[in-house]
Amino acid sequence: MSYLVIARKWRPTTFSEVVGQEHVTTTLENAIKNDRLASAYIFSGPRGVGKTTTARILTKALNCENGPTPTPCNTCAACTEITAGNSIDVLEIDGASNRGIDEVRNLRESTRYTPARNRYKIYIIDEVHMLTTEAFNALLKTLEEPPAHVVFIFATTEVNKLPATILSRCQRFDFRRISAQKIVAQLEKICSHEKITIDKSALYLIARKSEGCMRDSQSLLDQVISFCGTTIQEDDVANLLGAVGQDVYFEITRAIAEHDLPSAVSIARHVYEKGYEIKELISGLAEHFNLMLTLKTTGSKEHFVGLEPFIEEFEKHAGRFSETDLIRMMQVIIEAAADVRWSMNPHLHLEMLLLRLAKMPASVELQQVLDDIEELKKKRVVEPAEPQTNNVRVLPQFTPRSQTTSLFQNLSRQNAVRDQDEPGPANATAGDETASGSEPVDLEVIRSKWAGVVAAVKKKKISLGSMLAVGQPYHLSGNQLEILFGEKDTFHVNTLNENQKLIQEAILSETNMKVFVHCLKGTNANGHSPAGKHPAAENTAPAAENVAAAEEPAPQPQPEHTAETVRESTPIQTPPPETVPDTGDWLSAYPLAGQIIETLGGEKLR
Ligand SMILES: [Zn+2]
Repeated sequence: MSYLVIARKWRPTTFSEVVGQEHVTTTLENAIKNDRLASAYIFSGPRGVGKTTTARILTKALNCENGPTPTPCNTCAACTEITAGNSIDVLEIDGASNRGIDEVRNLRESTRYTPARNRYKIYIIDEVHMLTTEAFNALLKTLEEPPAHVVFIFATTEVNKLPATILSRCQRFDFRRISAQKIVAQLEKICSHEKITIDKSALYLIARKSEGCMRDSQSLLDQVISFCGTTIQEDDVANLLGAVGQDVYFEITRAIAEHDLPSAVSIARHVYEKGYEIKELISGLAEHFNLMLTLKTTGSKEHFVGLEPFIEEFEKHAGRFSETDLIRMMQVIIEAAADVRWSMNPHLHLEMLLLRLAKMPASVELQQVLDDIEELKKKRVVEPAEPQTNNVRVLPQFTPRSQTTSLFQNLSRQNAVRDQDEPGPANATAGDETASGSEPVDLEVIRSKWAGVVAAVKKKKISLGSMLAVGQPYHLSGNQLEILFGEKDTFHVNTLNENQKLIQEAILSETNMKVFVHCLKGTNANGHSPAGKHPAAENTAPAAENVAAAEEPAPQPQPEHTAETVRESTPIQTPPPETVPDTGDWLSAYPLAGQIIETLGGEKLR
């Protein structure tokens, strides 16, 4: 067979050729130089990262005719025999198939004899963790008192399975996965030597697929070469290896950035139908986001080995996310990668992951929140102030208007059921602030136009207007207008307090004054206000005037009011005197009737 696979053809023959395990090779070179050799070594690490290769180089270094030397010549008889695998003094044993006590006993016997031709008798036991406990115990005897001419090299992928007694008698070297950059560099070297034209992104794809394993990457390269010939592009590699190309990751990123849920679903389905390895795709996505995060946080492009043609696109996509978002998303992707490992339906995990990412709201930066607060503060200075009460401070900037109203209504309802004798909240301290564009509030003006207000309310809702006619504008505190009703008018008060907005609008349209109304029950609804009982009446000038006006025999608004109510009440022939107030019409005496008429869509006929 003239063709030699790349992995064998390019197998390192010196320590310096071993890629990605410098921490091991340098130590071994120094040990040989300084003649500080151990009699047993453990080489642990994932498969295909150079454990057996390094073991062979070490045997050559020890047995080379020009040695022991850190740089074996690879030309002497000892070196060539070891390279060819037929050295009489180097025994390579597969631990998996020679795992019993008998094999180890034979091995122990053979260690007694000195090497036939070379300096050392070297035993390389691969997959040593496969030995049985008895075999390990038998081996232990030799390791405790090793003959000077014997060196053991144990290679294992599962060092945790070795007994502590063995571990403590060996010098241990942990081999690492090889970085994608180093694999790509090595593959590039091989390709240029083999006269193969290949995209760097295709090499990167191979490196990623081989998961830090140099031997796998070289086998994959072999496979790709026999499929594509000497000119290889990324697409070919992606198709052949079932690896996910960068375009898929960028498409996913776009869907996430634009919260494009339909695309997220269709990508997930497409990937599944194409037969991509879902686990690989998810871990690739984590890497993709990691690259964006690295680019955004450090601006460094050194991690983009093999992805140089995509850097601009990476930058474009990274710009669409904040660092916080990228970290959050990576967290979600990594969790999904862990979940999908044991899943029976990995494609559902992928779909869920992509939807979750696409639905993820962008996190608001702290600075943005601070800026918004600053903006609101500025607005507050410009906006008209709303009425404040002593017990509840309403901040209109932070409360939606509807909420403010309902809060106020709740307060009003509480006041409505409160007995008049019980002192209410002192509203008199609130300033006489008025909304810009409307007139300054004035109780006398409201009183003088009260009949118009009642009429306006009646136009909107006849029963409410009739009920309102029973009450009187009684007291004004800041922008809050109190309308006083009789002791028995609980229903009127409650109903009207539920419709404050309508009354307020009527007052605004009639007087151009912006007030907040609040109906309450008093001892006398006929103009004789309970002077002295209302806490506000004692303290404030408007209230005092109000009391004075109310006590006068003929206050200014009264005649109008009376005229109005007389006209209104004319159709009533024999009103029951104990239930119908002087100032109301028949509907005000039977508010329920008014409501029924209104509910049924009827009309009051006079
Ligand atoms: Zn040699």
